[in-house]
Amino acid sequence: MALASSMNALVYKGPGEKAWESVPTPRILKPTDAIVELTKTTICGTDLHILKGDVPAVTSGRILGHEGVGIVVETGDAVSNFSVGDRVIISCVTSCGKCEYCKQQMYSHCEDGGWILGHLIDGTQAEYVRIPHADNSLYRIPEGTDEEALVMLSDILPTGFEIGVLYGAVSPGDTVAIVGAGPVGMAALLTAQFYSPSRLIMIDLDDARLEMAKRFGATEVINSGKVNVVEELMNSTKDGVDVAIEAVGVPATFDVCQNIVRPGGHIANVGVHGKSVDFQIQKLWIQNITLTTGLVNTNTTPMLLKTVESGKVQPEQLVTHRFKFDEMLKAYEVFGNAGEEKAMKVIISKD
Ligand code: NAD
Ligand code: ZN
Ligand code: ZN
Repeated sequence: MALASSMNALVYKGPGEKAWESVPTPRILKPTDAIVELTKTTICGTDLHILKGDVPAVTSGRILGHEGVGIVVETGDAVSNFSVGDRVIISCVTSCGKCEYCKQQMYSHCEDGGWILGHLIDGTQAEYVRIPHADNSLYRIPEGTDEEALVMLSDILPTGFEIGVLYGAVSPGDTVAIVGAGPVGMAALLTAQFYSPSRLIMIDLDDARLEMAKRFGATEVINSGKVNVVEELMNSTKDGVDVAIEAVGVPATFDVCQNIVRPGGHIANVGVHGKSVDFQIQKLWIQNITLTTGLVNTNTTPMLLKTVESGKVQPEQLVTHRFKFDEMLKAYEVFGNAGEEKAMKVIISKD
């Protein structure tokens, strides 16, 4: 069945400007492409950064969004893993599967992919999206799995897990501090529990988010706007935490991490930083710490999918608000005022 020639999408119009409007429906451009009809999508903190003008590579006219689930409606001749009618998760990272970086499972640096959706090519906040390298960039949805939970697999669950928990080398018995209780920090909180840490301390400025963190398994929470978090943690540990996960992206929170990590510990930076931080190398050189950074690779998506399918992890708990596609602008308003609205993740559905 031929697709209609136009569809609705959330279009970036330059800093501070966006519209939900009619645009041409995407077409197959390369034999490795597939066209997916979105059934559910969401908004990421990164989309808000783009709207502020923080990501100049995104140009006016771009359809935003890099997360979602849907149904394959067209495939290029070279797509062999997926057929029309398949229900799929769209990965926020596109991978060709063939280049040097893909061979190392570092898909974020794929030479013909990486994070391009809703960035360098049109994204998922639309009725349809073109997915390049569909064979490697889509994941089949297991029968009967909660699709809201699976939207969290496009980006935030692998981000919190890979760049926070795995790079931070969270191990049984560890004391782990996560700075930032947004969706990414929460994803780190949920997945750190695979490794049975002794203490999971969540730090944020927002009491509502900290309350939510307690329900998701935080053993302690600290409001760093009210309490001196460094003092508190240095007093309640022998000599600091084993793992400090930075999930905000500002100098103040990086500074907390470097002041609470114990000798031999790990700082796993997940936050996207817009300016340099003051790294205390003169103090830390002797401490045998490991500092990691990274863009999500989504190479753990198949593993995380199994944990969601079995109910071991329930990321649908992060969904606080639901909208229909034609309420996209309202969804942005709510997500953009997350504090007041007590919003974490919003789901925007076709029906
Ligand atoms: P978010 O904005 O929803 O959450 C950030 C949280 O940090 C909020 O709850 C806020 O209250 C808290 N916060 C702000 N300033 C603070 C401070 N001084 N002290 C303590 N808490 C403070 O963001 P998110 O969607 O959860 O994403 C977190 C970070 O991860 C962002 O920087 C985002 O761009 C980044 N990110 C990185 C990757 C990657 O691949 N590395 C992928 C996705 C997102
Ligand atoms: Zn994102
Ligand atoms: Zn590649």
